[in-house]
Amino acid sequence: MYDLIVTGAGCAGCVTAERTAQRGFKTLVLDRQPSGNLGHTWVNGVERTVFDRVGIAMPSGEETMPSPLVSRLLGPSGTHYIETTSSPTIEVRMSVFARRLLADAMEAGAEFREATPVARPLMEGDRVAGVVTASGEEIPARVVVDASGWEAVLRRELPETSPIPREFDEGYMVTAWREQRRFGPEEAAEVPRILDIPPDVNVSRVGWRGGYSVLMLHWDPRESELDILVGFSQAESTESAGEYVRNFFAEKGLGGERIYGGGGLIPVRRSLDVLVDHGILLAGDSACMVIPAHGSGVASSLIAGDLAARTIARCLRENDTSRENLWEYAASYQRGRGALMAYFDVTRGLTDNFDQSDMDMLVGFVMTPGDVEAGLRAEPLGIDLKDAMHRLRSLRHPIFTTRFAWLASAALTLKKAYEDYPKRYDPNQLEEWRGRIKRARKRLETS
Ligand SMILES: Cc1cc2nc3c(=O)[nH]c(=O)nc-3n(C[C@H](O)[C@H](O)[C@H](O)COP(=O)(O)OP(=O)(O)OC[C@H]3O[C@@H](n4cnc5c(N)ncnc54)[C@H](O)[C@@H]3O)c2cc1C
Repeated sequence: MYDLIVTGAGCAGCVTAERTAQRGFKTLVLDRQPSGNLGHTWVNGVERTVFDRVGIAMPSGEETMPSPLVSRLLGPSGTHYIETTSSPTIEVRMSVFARRLLADAMEAGAEFREATPVARPLMEGDRVAGVVTASGEEIPARVVVDASGWEAVLRRELPETSPIPREFDEGYMVTAWREQRRFGPEEAAEVPRILDIPPDVNVSRVGWRGGYSVLMLHWDPRESELDILVGFSQAESTESAGEYVRNFFAEKGLGGERIYGGGGLIPVRRSLDVLVDHGILLAGDSACMVIPAHGSGVASSLIAGDLAARTIARCLRENDTSRENLWEYAASYQRGRGALMAYFDVTRGLTDNFDQSDMDMLVGFVMTPGDVEAGLRAEPLGIDLKDAMHRLRSLRHPIFTTRFAWLASAALTLKKAYEDYPKRYDPNQLEEWRGRIKRARKRLETS
């Protein structure tokens, strides 16, 4: 019997597998993709500091793409912007990076089965005792990790009695697409003029489509390459981000050749309330571990994989993979990274309640380059109630000032609540904690 089965050979799955196998446990990784198609085909900006933090070599060579020297964050109307010149993130080609992580896991002793879609958890009473593949094969294991990304194939099939939420509001789903296109010499000369963007400047416009939306364009004149990223709320649109990009190029009359790219969905919300149950842990997008401010989930997935492996190894040694014993992982994630994610849920409050002119005001007069960089490094902006009032005094716009200050303090309340996530599994404490989250969320929604 396997000690651990990991469903999904993405960042979260590979790190969990590598670190559990390294500690001497019999580990199997399953992915529905054949080996040649593993890893997403788009570039992700990942916090540079996370690699040192979890002990993974910084991506280099063909795993990366050069970072822009200058970045501009524009408000919805495009009239105001904030410019930054540092690069807190590194641009990572995910298909190349994910294959390195899988190779590391296999070197540590993990087995890998490609082209094996998992259909559901194998249940023994109320505990997960392995997985059932799409072809009906039952593979038992002492503990299982759902690292299958936003599709969360195991989480969605858990019994109703599980405290892990199987579903959440679809309004949190963002459709996203990122690609790099190369242009021939004639067209290349026209691209920045047609798109009205300066060369070598990464221009990101937020709120351009109302609600939670971003359109990023970056023209690299040396490579004659355009980098485009589009994301918007799936619920508010009938087209996907990929369709939008295709139509965008057609409308602008631009051809070029896609050299790397792809897209999918991102669950842009704070992490789920409960991350473990008897015999199962969730890691990565399957647990909604994405920084809501910018939809980045890779760093959280690496951190979660590392934390999960520590708890799994201890529980296997103690021969106890109950919800109570696995809870340590949930508490350590939620009290640290989870609290930061909850803090950045403030962006929901912004996009849901602030109209475009409010957002313009925010970008033009309230936020600083330091705030944008802190957001990319996944660090709190350091805006407390007093600081917010100070920054807003010059605006002489009392209603906006009050709403923004309220929002800033609600974000800190939410972060604090996650820092106090129950250390041990206790249904009463969990209910009490959920009540705190509900009240803090309400403050965000009504600000
Ligand atoms: C266009 C776009 C741009 C993005 N940009 C950024 C960014 O700049 N920075 C950033 O940090 N994040 C970004 N993200 C989010 C990031 O890609 C995810 O947060 C991250 O990949 C999550 O990692 P994961 O390990 O949880 O899941 P994934 O990397 O999605 O891996 C899940 C794995 O599970 C496998 N799987 C799925 N279903 C099954 C099944 N039934 N059986 C077996 N295997 C299965 C999949 O094949 C896949 O290999 C972006 C996402 C998109 C769509």
